[in-house]
Amino acid sequence: MNPTYGPEAEAYRDKVQAFLAEKLPTNWAGIGQLPADEVRDFVTSWRTTLYEAGYLAPGWPVEYGGAGLSALEQVILAEEFARAGVPTGGPNDGFGIQMLGNTLLVWGTDEQKRHYLPRILSGEDIWCQGYSEPNAGSDLGSLGLRATLDGDVWVLNGQKIWTSAGHLADHIFTLARTDPDAPKHKGISFLLVDMRQPGIEVRPIRMISGESEFNEVFYTDATTPKTEVVGGVNNGWAVAMSLLGYERGAAAATNPIRYQGELDRLFLLAKERGLTTDPVIRQRLAWCYSKVAMMRYLGMRVLTQFLNGHQPGPDAAITKLYWSEYHQRATELALDILGPEAMVPSGRKPTSAFGADDAGAPNSSASWTDTFLNARAATIYAGSSQIQRNILGEMVLGLPKEPRPD
Ligand SMILES: Cc1cc2nc3c(=O)[nH]c(=O)nc-3n(C[C@H](O)[C@H](O)[C@H](O)COP(=O)(O)OP(=O)(O)OC[C@H]3O[C@@H](n4cnc5c(N)ncnc54)[C@H](O)[C@@H]3O)c2cc1C
Repeated sequence: MNPTYGPEAEAYRDKVQAFLAEKLPTNWAGIGQLPADEVRDFVTSWRTTLYEAGYLAPGWPVEYGGAGLSALEQVILAEEFARAGVPTGGPNDGFGIQMLGNTLLVWGTDEQKRHYLPRILSGEDIWCQGYSEPNAGSDLGSLGLRATLDGDVWVLNGQKIWTSAGHLADHIFTLARTDPDAPKHKGISFLLVDMRQPGIEVRPIRMISGESEFNEVFYTDATTPKTEVVGGVNNGWAVAMSLLGYERGAAAATNPIRYQGELDRLFLLAKERGLTTDPVIRQRLAWCYSKVAMMRYLGMRVLTQFLNGHQPGPDAAITKLYWSEYHQRATELALDILGPEAMVPSGRKPTSAFGADDAGAPNSSASWTDTFLNARAATIYAGSSQIQRNILGEMVLGLPKEPRPD
C-alpha cells in the first residue's frame, strides 16, 4: 500500500483545483449549501461543464468523449471533486458511465462502443439497470425475464423490480433468459433495450422516506434488435459480473472523503446538543472516527491496486460491505443524538437516496433522519451484506462454497 503521489501528480492536482476555482461560484462550500430546489438546475449545468471539459468519463479514451487520463490523474480528479463537494455527473450517470460504459469498453463491439459511449456522455441516452426481479435478487441467476429471437429482434416478456431512477431513463441494460434449457447461469444474455416503446411500462415504488427513487419495469412483447447483445448470446453472466465489480468498487477513493465530511458534521451535532461529555456518545463517536480512518486505509489499498492496473473484481465486495455497514451505525448515532427531534424532522432533506448527505449540507434533523432511512437500503442494494460475505469467503478467500439448493 503506497499511494504517495509524485510531483507530476501534485501538478495535476493544481490543474484540477484551478479548474474548480474557475468554474464554481466564489465562496463555494459544497452542493449541500444550495437550497434543495436549486440543486437540480446546478447538477444539470455542472454536468454540461464536466462534459465540455471531458471530465464526465475521465478515464475513457478521447475518441469516445473521455479525457484519456491516467489512473493516477483519475484518482486525483475524483479526490478533488469529492473535496469540493461537487457531483461527478447527473442522477443516471452511475448507470450510464460507471456501470454500462466501463462494461462496454471491455465487452462491447466496436460498433456498440462507437454508437453508445458518446451518447451516454452527451446525455442523449439515459440508462438504468434491469437486473433484479421479484424472484431473483441475491439469486440473480434464477432470473426469468424471457427474450426470444424472432427474425432480427429479441422479444422480451417478464418483469424487473427495484429499478433505480428507471422513471428518468430512456434505456435499460437488462439480463434476460435466452436459453431456458441451459444450466441457469449459462442461458442468460446482457441486452440493451430502448424503453421508449409501448411494450415497456415503468411503475414507481414508494419508499420509507416518502420518495420514489425506484420502480417496477414490465416487458410485454417489448423488442430490441438482435445486435443489441453485449458479450455474446448466453454469455450475459460474465458481463453482468464485471459490471457489478464497477458498481461495488467505484467509491473506494471518494468514500473516505465523503464520510469524513459527514463525521465532522456529526461531531458538530453532538457539540451543539451538549453531548460531547456523555461517555456513551463519546465512545460511539470514537468508534465512527476509527471506522472512517480504516475506510481511508482500505481505500488506499484499493487505490494502490488500481494504480497498478488491477480492475475491481470480487474484492470490491470489501469496500461495499464496509461503508454500507458503517453508515447504518453512524446514522443511528445521529438519531440518538437528535433524540425526540428525529421523530419530527425539519429543514433541508438530502437530495439523493444514496450514501452520505451532500457536502456542505446543514445539520438539520431532516438531513439526518432521511440519511438514516436511506442507509437501511445500502446493505441490500448492489448485493446484500450476506452475499458480499459469501463472495469474499468463496471467491477471495477460497473457502468451500455454500451448499446450493439446486
Ligand atoms: C434502494 C435500492 C435500489 C436498488 N436498485 C436496483 C437497480 O437499479 N437495479 C436492479 O436490478 N436492482 C436494484 N436493487 C435490487 C437489489 O439488487 C436487490 O434488492 C438485492 O440484490 C437483494 O435481492 P432481494 O431484494 O430479492 O432479496 P433476497 O435475495 O430475497 O434476500 C433476502 C434476504 O436473504 C438473504 N440471502 C439471500 N440469499 C442468501 C444466501 N445465499 N446466503 C445468505 N443470505 C442470503 C439476503 O442477504 C437478504 O437478507 C435495488 C435495491 C434497493 C434496496
